[in-house]
Amino acid sequence: KAAVIDGKAIAQVIKDEIKTEVSSLIADGKRAPHLSVLLVGNNPASIIYVRNKALAAQYTGISCDILRIPENVSEGEVLKEIEALNRLPEVDGILVQLPLPPNMSERTVCDAVLPGKDVDGFNVLNVGRFCVNQEAFIPATPSGVLEILKRLNINTLGKNAVVCGRSKNVGLPIALHLHASQNKGSTIGDATTTICHRNTPPDQLRHFIKSADILVTATGIPGLVTADMVKDGVVVIDVGITRILDKNGKARLVGDVDFADVSKKASYITPVPGGVGPVTVAMVIKNTLAAYKNELDYGPWNKSVLPSR
Ligand code: NAD
Repeated sequence: KAAVIDGKAIAQVIKDEIKTEVSSLIADGKRAPHLSVLLVGNNPASIIYVRNKALAAQYTGISCDILRIPENVSEGEVLKEIEALNRLPEVDGILVQLPLPPNMSERTVCDAVLPGKDVDGFNVLNVGRFCVNQEAFIPATPSGVLEILKRLNINTLGKNAVVCGRSKNVGLPIALHLHASQNKGSTIGDATTTICHRNTPPDQLRHFIKSADILVTATGIPGLVTADMVKDGVVVIDVGITRILDKNGKARLVGDVDFADVSKKASYITPVPGGVGPVTVAMVIKNTLAAYKNELDYGPWNKSVLPSR
């Protein structure tokens, strides 16, 4: 029977590490790092996600403000807000909660965030740098998945990894990481990686999943993976989150994997909720501390906007 990965406990360890570091910065007379979150409109799930990020920041000693922007504003007005935050030296991280209203281009808005403050890793410069193995902010959910594998001391070198889902912010970066060369000292990467997506025929999906030593699912399709599809000992990271109504009409969150049965065959498995979700939140905060410390060198891209940093 699989060890159930406790995402809440992993997130707590990460947040405590950040808290210790922030406390010592403040003890040294330095200011606290700061995260600004832009929330456009009233999407109920986004409101909850943003609140969780603000609470996590607060716990670690990182200050956080949430800028609520009405649904009906123009893209230009959102860009102006981002521009203002880009120029404020005391704002270290900027996060634009997605999805945005349909009248805005997510690409344009994400690209407006200064790369060195882009703690969500959605700016095209971060995406590109990451693809060519340069230091970059990595989106929180993929970082969360990698962090879980790292903290379990799983070495992916030479293993078969299968990622179901290829979205730009979730499935694809996870697959890129798993297949890339391992960085010095890292145990993640160098897996033979297969990406499955909505056009992967069901028999092929089954065939590939059966080969997986590490299976990451990020589709939002409950019950996509059943016990008969996986091999014994597989490590299962279930990123999917879907709200369903149970037999009694009560809402609950489920992942993509049939947890009860797959956990009888897997070596490790993440539950939903309480798996990847809490670690994702902690990674946004970790990126904010990295932005504060200017850990990543963006050279002219940041300096052109922020000469004083
Ligand atoms: P998305 O809708 O953008 O992408 C879904 C992906 O699943 C697509 O690439 C699609 O090709 C693939 N897919 C669809 N049917 C498939 C099938 N039959 N077999 C294999 N692949 C199939 O969604 P997303 O933003 O990538 O999110 C995916 C899931 O992860 C959602 O449930 C979302 O709620 C969840 N999510 C969780 C976190 C977290 O922190 N845990 C963060 C972001 C997203």
